[in-house]
Amino acid sequence: CGIVAISAKRDIGNDILDGLARLEYRGYDSFGFACMANGELSLVRDVGVLSEKRARLRDGGMPEAHAAIGHTRWATHGRVTVANTHPHTSFDQRFVLAHNGVIENHHEIRERLAARQIQCTSETDTEVVAHLLALHYRETGDLMATIAAVRAEVRGEYAFAIALRDEPGLLIGVKNQSPLAAGTLANGAGPDGGFLCSDPIALAGHEGQIAYLEDGDVAFVRPDGVEILHGDTALAPVERAMTALDIDN
Ligand code: GLU
Repeated sequence: CGIVAISAKRDIGNDILDGLARLEYRGYDSFGFACMANGELSLVRDVGVLSEKRARLRDGGMPEAHAAIGHTRWATHGRVTVANTHPHTSFDQRFVLAHNGVIENHHEIRERLAARQIQCTSETDTEVVAHLLALHYRETGDLMATIAAVRAEVRGEYAFAIALRDEPGLLIGVKNQSPLAAGTLANGAGPDGGFLCSDPIALAGHEGQIAYLEDGDVAFVRPDGVEILHGDTALAPVERAMTALDIDN
């Protein structure tokens, strides 16, 4: 339902929690976030209402994070349980991913994964995508080839926000038929990180630039900027119009 992901050179934990709170108006049944700090991945996921749990999260429940992916889930496949909450991790814990939309051929992919001894731990249509990323990455060692292979295998509507342990400051956005934007943040002193979001309201109160992605776009977001690529198998850099983030608090 809602995605907000930020990578910066400072602790962005509160920005993710604020972003999730701003996405609440869209409706959701559960929420979660994955944080990357010092090469360690940690996951906080819960069912119910974020605002009731927020104070507890910041007092010890949430580590300092320089890159994080937050998600509000509105369940389409699988019950409202903590195990079904996003973000989902790959079997090797290398990839973490949040998804808005529906993966139509998840049954088929689940069977192919099971044939390779990879069992899903949730009932969602989303989890298979995390495992596919890990499998292709293990085989190719190449992130671009991995993304191309996963897109070729997955059918449906999706906005993905992806992080991987091997590149802790990197966030990857992939869009097909579900809204996703990418951009850069700034403060009075200069550049202040990069982001992905499904709805710009998530970044209300921030200064920066935002580009709305098109179907077939892949965005690589780092603390110092965003690069947008487009294509089916071969991804090539593409220009997307950047506009100022101007949503008031
Ligand atoms: N289809 C996914 C699920 O049910 C994502 C739902 C959403 O967009 O929040 O877990």
